[in-house]
Amino acid sequence: MSLPETIGFVGLGQMGEPMAAFIAQGATPLICYDRVPGRAPEGATEAGSLSEVVASADTLFLSLPDGNIVNAVAAEIAALPDVAGKVVIDMSTIGPAAAKQACAALTGAGMTFIDAPVSGGRQGALKAAITVIWSGPKAELERHQPVLDLFSRNTFHVGDTPGQGQAVKLLNNFLSATAMAASSEAVLFGLSHGVEMKTILDVVKVSTGNNTAIEDKFPNRILTGSYDAGFFAELLNKDVRLYSQFVEEAGTSNLMGQRVAEIWQQVEEALPPQSDFTRVFEVLEKRSAS
Ligand code: NAD
Repeated sequence: MSLPETIGFVGLGQMGEPMAAFIAQGATPLICYDRVPGRAPEGATEAGSLSEVVASADTLFLSLPDGNIVNAVAAEIAALPDVAGKVVIDMSTIGPAAAKQACAALTGAGMTFIDAPVSGGRQGALKAAITVIWSGPKAELERHQPVLDLFSRNTFHVGDTPGQGQAVKLLNNFLSATAMAASSEAVLFGLSHGVEMKTILDVVKVSTGNNTAIEDKFPNRILTGSYDAGFFAELLNKDVRLYSQFVEEAGTSNLMGQRVAEIWQQVEEALPPQSDFTRVFEVLEKRSAS
């Protein structure tokens, strides 16, 4: 199977823009669209509409906020002429049900849908070090591997069915969200005993409590006061909510999931829209003081 002749990219936000920028550096022509104009990276063509991207590209990447938006875009694509045979690779985090719904709409129009959420955050995207969690035909993964290699360090084929990629992505983000909230509470406890934040981090980082919040978010985004991990609290809350919802549906244990979902709901409500998720520390700090 051959490489796509033209690649389309829809959604140029915190994740999409850097990923598209790396694709633009490759040999395949790239055409991009975001509802906010002016976000296409250097080397790519900026389209004025979704239909223009779909008409030009044979493979389309999506990096959109949530399942409602992905499904609205999928329905719009499916209704366009001459779309049969095209491939849509959705890298958004939308949960298994929304992925299945998008798959049904697009396969109904003769297209191939790949559920391929990503992990690694904006920092990973800026370094072309994203993990791609692919569920869909393996042959399509092999065909697109040279394109994925432009922005990804690890690609995993986790199953043939859309929704399986979402399941792995949601469980990963549940663990990341848990580490971020639990580490914030643990650090606040250490601070209340007069120990410096850097000292707490230095100890835990080489001890059994180490995790991604202790290793990365605290020293690089919280201790520095920059709060710039590049992931909005409302998007992480969406992921944790989806995780808890689908764990309930699966019937597996959800004691931690329920509690962590409650915490992130409160964090989203306490912060202005588009606040970095590392500000959970500030929210819990204020709560400790009151
Ligand atoms: P973002 O909000 O920064 O970007 C989304 C982009 O989509 C924006 O540029 C927005 O203008 C555009 N958009 C919205 N509706 C559109 C439409 N109908 N047509 C065209 N463009 C539209 O979000 P993000 O952080 O880049 O995340 C994108 C997806 O990736 C989400 O599903 C998120 O959960 C997931 N994700 C984010 C991170 C992260 O660290 N930021 C990491 C992994 C996965």
